[in-house]
Amino acid sequence: GLRCLKLNSVSRVCSAPSEGAQHIRLLQWNILSQTLGQHNDGFVRCPDEALTWQHRRYLIVQEILQNQPDVVCLQEVDHFKFLQTVLGSQNYDGIFFPKPDSPCLYIEENNGPDGCAIFYKRDKLQLLGYDTRILEVWRVQSNQVAIAARLQLKASGREFCVCTTHLKARHGALLAKLRNEQGRDLIRFVKQFAGESPLLLCGDFNAEPIEPIYATILSCDLFKLGSAYADIKLEREREREREDQEQHTASCDDPNELIAQSIKREPPYTTWKIREDGEECHTIDYVFYTPQQLKIKNCLEFPAGEQIGKNRTPCFEYPSDHFSLVCDFELLDEPLSED
Ligand code: NDP
Ligand code: CA
Repeated sequence: GLRCLKLNSVSRVCSAPSEGAQHIRLLQWNILSQTLGQHNDGFVRCPDEALTWQHRRYLIVQEILQNQPDVVCLQEVDHFKFLQTVLGSQNYDGIFFPKPDSPCLYIEENNGPDGCAIFYKRDKLQLLGYDTRILEVWRVQSNQVAIAARLQLKASGREFCVCTTHLKARHGALLAKLRNEQGRDLIRFVKQFAGESPLLLCGDFNAEPIEPIYATILSCDLFKLGSAYADIKLEREREREREDQEQHTASCDDPNELIAQSIKREPPYTTWKIREDGEECHTIDYVFYTPQQLKIKNCLEFPAGEQIGKNRTPCFEYPSDHFSLVCDFELLDEPLSED
């Protein structure tokens, strides 16, 4: 099978496009809203020129296209029409759902509200339906949204669902609690939409793995979900142990221990930026999936600190302050039995 996708210094080209009737490549990325990035974020170490739409737009498109994903989930999209036109000419169709009260609209030079988007390869996938949600917290609508789509692989007729979201930003215990409530609503929404279908649930959750929402997602009653980047790391560790004929890491059933094991194996960062108040390096973007129906085959590595450069991101090479997560999945033949 494929080895761990190696990044190609700056351009991060994936080695092989995913092929076959059971394989799905997903790209998850907060692309950084043009309006917020240029006028609101305060990326003090990023040259103004690198933040212009003129400069960023083709880097964004290039990063998506060179990875050849079957499904693309994006956050902070405030140029959907541009992406729809360019990606549309490259075999993708897309759905967009804006935030109800996007902060972009409070900035003079805006290009409309930002929101989430899902694109899919139209020659490989058929869109069977989709739904959108304004996430609720304690039964009240928040300013965060989600999109869920049901897709069918044309070659095999098999179906799966994809859902993406961008949860409430900023630090603090109360906000972590709020994100947890958004996560609970997200799970209810996506369960109702996806039912028993294989599911990919990804986005910018704005939460480190130690926040309550991470455990809420991994331990929810409605789905059994795993985190792709953590699980591929565990898989590689197991492979190495087999090669070295070391004793196998005992698999356990204790949900708290499983969550702790997953937290430990998340990547060290998915966003890395410098604002006026200092450097922020966090793991807050995830690709969750139903491991009983999907096998994680490969995850694209992120550029290392030296490759990123001392000014971090965004910069001339990296158009967003978030990295793209790229995952290869295989749809399993039979759902593994519960016991
Ligand atoms: P969020 O807190 O979820 O953040 C909105 C955006 O700001 C996100 O895209 C987030 O990016 C980014 N962000 C996070 N941290 C910072 C930071 N330190 N500096 C700059 N940008 C940051 O906002 P909501 O959608 O819940 O909306 C609230 C905001 O919208 C308010 O702060 C206000 O500015 C604006 N607003 C204003 C209103 C008004 O009356 N003037 C009414 C409604 C909204 P990421 O997720 O990548 O961290
Ligand atoms: Ca942002």
